[in-house]
Amino acid sequence: MRAVTFQAPGEVLVEEVPEPELVDARDAIVQIEATGVCGSDLHIYHGRVQIERGFTIGHEYVGTVIAAGEDVRDVQIGDRVLGCFQTACGSCFFCRRGWFHKCDFSRTFGHGAALGSLPGTQAERALVPNADLVLRKVPNGMSEDIALFAGDVMGTGYHAVEQSGLAPGDVAAVLGLGPVGLCAVQAARAVGAAHVIAVDSVPERLAMAESFGAEPVHLSEGDPRAAAREATDGRGVDVCIDAVGDPRALELALRLTRKCGTVQAIGVYAERCEVHMGLLWIKALNLHSGHANVIGHVDSVLEMMSAGLLDPSSLVTHHMSLDEAPEAYALYDRREALKIVLKP
Ligand SMILES: [Zn+2]
Ligand SMILES: [Zn+2]
Repeated sequence: MRAVTFQAPGEVLVEEVPEPELVDARDAIVQIEATGVCGSDLHIYHGRVQIERGFTIGHEYVGTVIAAGEDVRDVQIGDRVLGCFQTACGSCFFCRRGWFHKCDFSRTFGHGAALGSLPGTQAERALVPNADLVLRKVPNGMSEDIALFAGDVMGTGYHAVEQSGLAPGDVAAVLGLGPVGLCAVQAARAVGAAHVIAVDSVPERLAMAESFGAEPVHLSEGDPRAAAREATDGRGVDVCIDAVGDPRALELALRLTRKCGTVQAIGVYAERCEVHMGLLWIKALNLHSGHANVIGHVDSVLEMMSAGLLDPSSLVTHHMSLDEAPEAYALYDRREALKIVLKP
């Protein structure tokens, strides 16, 4: 079958790879209908996250179950499903507490040997371990474009808001309006934020955040700190979500947030970076971090998307065929796309 493989920094290829096979009684195989290109794929593309040459990438997917092991109960052959970007065992210390994202035996699709050697979903077919926990049926009438957000990007935006403890009536700021930041804007509005300040430097992204009900503020041409003061009688925002993953964004988040507020770092940090601990301490801020518990949130996110409370459809800027993956990655790398959906 055809699959998108990592070759070298800046180079992906569509090539023939072996067919997936059921290994465990809880496995399923999904025929992929649609698969997204994600910001974390770009970390691999840039060589910031290192994986083996020839490894199949991708971790956002919607498709149809075409094979299932004998212990799979909740999905059946023929079901249209979406999946989460990582698997979990369901029974370790962390899974028993609902922290599926920190499962001791988790495997992430398309991230090489370091994250469990699970081939990615930018392929014609994919093996899904622990299918009952990782897959969900696509709700009736939901398009694949929308459904594939539940298992990653919208799950992540929602997680950022949920973890931050944002309460109805709160004022929030979201730094970085890539797909996760834009989903966080929607989630913040959906759970009742009275005002959301959305910060970026790309005009189209600011315009989209505005269409989701946020106040757009240009990072350099505008004044995020003044906007935060203005919206809160000078206090600072209740919650600030850093959807960038850069020390400068974290620093700004610490400055925008009011005393005893929460900074939620959902953008990816892989390196050592400096945090102004004095500022954090004096303001008695809460700093939350880590990637999203997508398995833990997928049912809520699907319900909210079904109800129209969350609607990521306008984030899909490009549809391309799987064979066009090299162009898709180059396009995404140039920040000319928000979400590219590939179809095998
Ligand atoms: Zn992703
Ligand atoms: Zn576990």
